[in-house]
Amino acid sequence: MDAPYARLEVLEPGISRLLAHNPSAFTYYGTQSYLVGINKVAVVDPGPDLPEHLDALEVAIAGRPVIAIMCTHTHRDHSPAARPLAERTGAPIIGCAALALETAGPRADASFDGDYAPDGVLSDGEMLDIDGESITAVATPGHTSNHLCFAYRGALFSGDHVMGWSTTVVFPPDGDMAAYMQSLDKLRQRDDRVYYPAHGPAVTNPQQYVRHLTGHRMQREKQILRLVSNEARPIADIVANAYPGLDPRLVTAAGGSVLAHLLDLERRGLVEQQQGLWKAA
Ligand SMILES: [Zn+2]
Repeated sequence: MDAPYARLEVLEPGISRLLAHNPSAFTYYGTQSYLVGINKVAVVDPGPDLPEHLDALEVAIAGRPVIAIMCTHTHRDHSPAARPLAERTGAPIIGCAALALETAGPRADASFDGDYAPDGVLSDGEMLDIDGESITAVATPGHTSNHLCFAYRGALFSGDHVMGWSTTVVFPPDGDMAAYMQSLDKLRQRDDRVYYPAHGPAVTNPQQYVRHLTGHRMQREKQILRLVSNEARPIADIVANAYPGLDPRLVTAAGGSVLAHLLDLERRGLVEQQQGLWKAA
């Protein structure tokens, strides 16, 4: 695959990108880590714990002080390199919270990095200083409950909340469709000029793109409501009808997104479930 693995791409002054070699049906060509800053840097989404990716990050950092290693969320393709990179550079891990496994009920799934242990957590609106410029946390729960985007000089590192190649997987119990939609609204009220997602190309028309994503989810919701309106159906049946010709590797993820919609609709009193069958309330 002709993707720029281990090749630093300078996107604009103070922002460069490094692609990790972890391509999959969920990560596109892989996870994109970002170096932010000029004389000092922050690393956004260090990525998977792959020695060649850590080596490439270290070369790109080129001995500059690393003020923080910042994760948007704690899926395994984003945060596992944080600790080894902290050991190599002496930088603190500051960004999203660890997932509250014990206190928040059964929220974990296999894709979570349970070893993630930040030195500092940013809440919505909190910022760090990089050479006199600020990088600011924008809380965007939905894809995961702990998801943050980071804003820097009109650019937004959008993690997996908004991606440049695919819609975002919202997989319950940690993924939450109502929270995701609210987080899309939150971005619509901002005026970022570009998004740099963890997967896929930069989004250069953020407002239009977020409106499109919101419309897509509302269409999906309508379609699901229509499917369960005169017949009680299991999720597998809804997926088969709503996603014709779906890549078999994505059937489970699509089932998760349908469940996320159904749980949201159930909370709003529009559908109900009996023995695994969903129907309009
Ligand atoms: Zn990801």
